[in-house]
Amino acid sequence: MSILPIVTYDDLVLRKEAEEIEENSDELQELIDDMLETMYNADGVGLAAPQIGKSIQLFVMDSDPMVEDDEVKYGPMVVINPIILEKKGDKVPMEEGCLSIPEVNDKVFRPEVIVIEYSDREFNKHRLEAVGWTSRIIQHEYDHLKGVLFLDYLSAFKKRMHKPALKEINSGEKKIKYPVVSKNNN
Ligand SMILES: [Zn+2]
Repeated sequence: MSILPIVTYDDLVLRKEAEEIEENSDELQELIDDMLETMYNADGVGLAAPQIGKSIQLFVMDSDPMVEDDEVKYGPMVVINPIILEKKGDKVPMEEGCLSIPEVNDKVFRPEVIVIEYSDREFNKHRLEAVGWTSRIIQHEYDHLKGVLFLDYLSAFKKRMHKPALKEINSGEKKIKYPVVSKNNN
């Protein structure tokens, strides 16, 4: 297994719609293991394939560190070719961050409950109704497969507020605790 560098926020791969994965392969299994290792190494709770430069419909996540003791724990999850079937409940604010936008956090309003259909790493299909942080992380990672970032939901004022931090990330000058590749670095 290896830790992969994470692309930062101005990389155009983060703005593309990711392609469906048609079949399983040794390469895919290796990529999944690497993505899980990369996510845990960065203390993240979710990582989508575009964030390591691959525009395919895959993300890994683990909401366990975020959920309360009395909530359902799912452990590490591998999500392939997801479809959000339903969004339910009120839009609630939760503080989000993103491994591609290190140390920038803000409140994002999203529906509380989602119903998702996806394949796991063995390509078995699942349907899951998720709430709380599990729902939140799924929605954030799902957005990555559509080319959407959490910043897109913020007001013009909030976006302007984060501008200096974004500039620092893009310049490649920001010290980040895990390996990244910014456009100006390569
Ligand atoms: Zn993200």
